Amino acid sequence: MIDLRSDTVTQPSDGMRDAIANAQVGDDVYHDDPTVNALERMVADMLGTDDAVYVPTGTMSNQIALRVHTQPGDTVLLHTAAHIARHELGGAAHNSGVTLKGIGGEQGAFTAGQLLEAVPTPHPALPAHLFDPVTLVCVENTHNDAGGTVWNREQMAGVLDAAKDLGIATHLDGARLWNAAVATGTSVGDLASGFDTVNVCFSKGLGAPVGSALAGTHTMIKQARRFKQIFGGGFRQAGLLAAGAIYALENNRSRIADDHTNARFFAETIDTAASVRVDLAAVQTNLVYFDVPDASSFVDECLAEDVSMLALGQSSVRAVFHLDVSHEQTAAAAQVVCAIA
Ligand SMILES: *Cc1c(COP(=O)(O)O)cnc(C)c1O
Repeated sequence: MIDLRSDTVTQPSDGMRDAIANAQVGDDVYHDDPTVNALERMVADMLGTDDAVYVPTGTMSNQIALRVHTQPGDTVLLHTAAHIARHELGGAAHNSGVTLKGIGGEQGAFTAGQLLEAVPTPHPALPAHLFDPVTLVCVENTHNDAGGTVWNREQMAGVLDAAKDLGIATHLDGARLWNAAVATGTSVGDLASGFDTVNVCFSKGLGAPVGSALAGTHTMIKQARRFKQIFGGGFRQAGLLAAGAIYALENNRSRIADDHTNARFFAETIDTAASVRVDLAAVQTNLVYFDVPDASSFVDECLAEDVSMLALGQSSVRAVFHLDVSHEQTAAAAQVVCAIA
């Protein structure tokens, strides 16, 4: 089986399993787990923040960020197709009592101008408290639903400047920030700079079994630790899991380039099939979204040929490249897609 459903389906390697088996652990709720503490320091140093907190999932990391930056009744601006808007099950309303206001925009990104348009301008004759309080803007890099697309640096700098001028906090959902860094030849620290908080995931392209981190200032991460506990994320000997994340950071970052090469090869190959449509410009990292006339029957037929992908909607199919997919498997999967198409 060639499993292209997601980069979350990876199996820990022997080296990673050894690191996990040999991890020193303590009680993370007492802030006493040396491996978790080491991971948190490592992430904060990489992202250039004061501190970071290790949490079970990227969803929890984003939800904690929303809770840290907002009060009930606030408005949060983000791309219409953001993970926080589409795949966190109304968590923003449930956990933080906030309204999400989507901004459209090419390839999962938006401009400073679009951000300014989305912020209500108080009428000079009316008191400012009669207008929606926008307190947070979220940016997703790479952008999952847009195709694993990478934000343009100048455009992001413009959005950060605009938010700063308005006194609006900023959160970066960098579940795949590692991919964005590899794709642009920059560091995750560069891509994270200017944001108040940053979520990064270890369980996607890096291939660790569990966990994400939320990074930010001392004050924000202190609050984040409180909400982690409230949301039920206080996990005790979590060093066993953190050891997998440290192993992934040390061993699996540069090889992400192979996933990008495989995704590109796959996209260009299947693009030659008459009934397949791929937006090649959106294939920038490890995700490939393509359209076929009937996604769900197409995916079933591919599965019968041992290639597993996700049908997302009527016509859209997603294939994701990760450390358990070799170049040979990529070529074989592309052949199956072409044959069935
Ligand atoms: C996967 C993902 C998350 C959530 O991570 P989980 O660990 O699956 O909860 C958040 N944001 C983006 C962009 C993602 O792709």
